[in-house]
Amino acid sequence: MSNKLYRAILTLAVIATITLSLAPPATAQDGKANDTESEVTLFKNVKVFNGTENMLHEMDVLVVKNKIHKIAKDIPTSGTWEVDMKTGGAKQTKGPGGGLEAYTFNTFEQGKTVKKQVKVNVIDGGGRTLMPGLIDSHVHLNFYKDGTLIDLESSTWEEIGARAAAMAKEMLEMGFTTVRDMGGTHDGLKKVIDQGLLPGPRIYCAGGFISQTSGHGDFGLPAMRKGEANVERLEIARMVDGRNEVLQAGRRNFALGAHYLKVMVSGGVTSVKDPIYASQFSDDEVLAAVETAEDWGSYVAVHVFQDDDILRALNLGVKCIDHGLTISDESMKLLVEKDAFLSPNCTALAREALAHPMHQDPTFPPTVKFMWLFNNSSEFFNLCKKYKPKLVFNSDYVLLTGDPFRASMDFTKYNVADRFGNFWALQMLTKNGGELCELTGPENPYADGKLGVIEEGAYADILIVDGNPLEDITTIGANSQWFDAAPRSQDVPPIKLIMKDGKVYKNTLK
Ligand SMILES: [Zn+2]
Repeated sequence: MSNKLYRAILTLAVIATITLSLAPPATAQDGKANDTESEVTLFKNVKVFNGTENMLHEMDVLVVKNKIHKIAKDIPTSGTWEVDMKTGGAKQTKGPGGGLEAYTFNTFEQGKTVKKQVKVNVIDGGGRTLMPGLIDSHVHLNFYKDGTLIDLESSTWEEIGARAAAMAKEMLEMGFTTVRDMGGTHDGLKKVIDQGLLPGPRIYCAGGFISQTSGHGDFGLPAMRKGEANVERLEIARMVDGRNEVLQAGRRNFALGAHYLKVMVSGGVTSVKDPIYASQFSDDEVLAAVETAEDWGSYVAVHVFQDDDILRALNLGVKCIDHGLTISDESMKLLVEKDAFLSPNCTALAREALAHPMHQDPTFPPTVKFMWLFNNSSEFFNLCKKYKPKLVFNSDYVLLTGDPFRASMDFTKYNVADRFGNFWALQMLTKNGGELCELTGPENPYADGKLGVIEEGAYADILIVDGNPLEDITTIGANSQWFDAAPRSQDVPPIKLIMKDGKVYKNTLK
């Protein structure tokens, strides 16, 4: 069956579901926004950062179902609207109705029109900033555990899954309405979150890491053979060698719901069997992954630090370089020419990282690797400024939970703004991340609207923050303190409102 036909059938199924679920009268639950309120939300008294421009606009923002429908000055709080339920679009058919605090919905179901009046949920932003929900383009939900990679060997699928759900909730509470899981996660948790059973961001999944034997994804104990490690049995990592096994790994990932593929093409810091400078996978093996992803209309992202391998990956058709910190002038030039994305974990280059408790023993193997990286990346920020590549936000924390995880995430927000300036950092966290999501092509699970921007037709993933993030990055929860940061609760106080897919998850404006 063609992708298009399959999607058309899925879309029909979705329309039918929405229509049925709207049939009974909506009722308020737990004092939170009820069904009717969440269908039309009007934000007033806000200044809009749209993800694209280095300025704020004083505009009202009207959300209908899960989309941003209109951005304009003085949108009336009442009126009659015709709403196409399959897209969340709407058009006003009558002007403001005399004192009627409601919009009228006309819903369409296979030729039938159903009129529906809904109360408008008017939210007064109190002059604060309304901006797109944040996008973290490099997380690992299945690694939300303290310890080392070996600790994953003693974890059941149940513990790993439950921990991933806990991290997803943390991410949403930090304002991340979308994450790109860069290895380990298939679409199981995503489906549960999308169904509304658990709170969490939208998730783009890479499926199991694709790694060669003794590569950055070879997490098992040294005596273990291929296929014996817990993470391999659970399909979090795939250890494969040779073109055929790479093809099989990529196809298996797509079968389990991956939206793109993640391939390890050079050494890493946390893995124990590979030198940091090691080249991984032959050209033929990388090409096998690229071909598989392209067959699905999607793309390959690679874990890579080594410059030779960055150049090689770009020439082989890889569309996103994750890390890439030792990139040379030549490779950066090629990256921009090829319109590829760069997803750097900038905290690895923060001076503050040297104070990490893990790095106090200079003979500790990950510290030796870390210092190699630190010492070979001195040109990274200069090259970014020279070539202005498409940068996205990358946190990449693994094996860290609770307060240290929160402190690291808050510092990472601060660090990118400190390095690139607030506007660049905010674009990495919003618009650029949204553009990377679109590279998944027909595999894009959220293809009906844009992500990372406040535009008409975009998904209603929205934050209201206390202040202007273009001037003060702490308004999105950034913190200049890292290891010395005071512990906080799950709540991020300056983020006053979090809306994802048109539903309000947090509102402390009142
Ligand atoms: Zn990673």
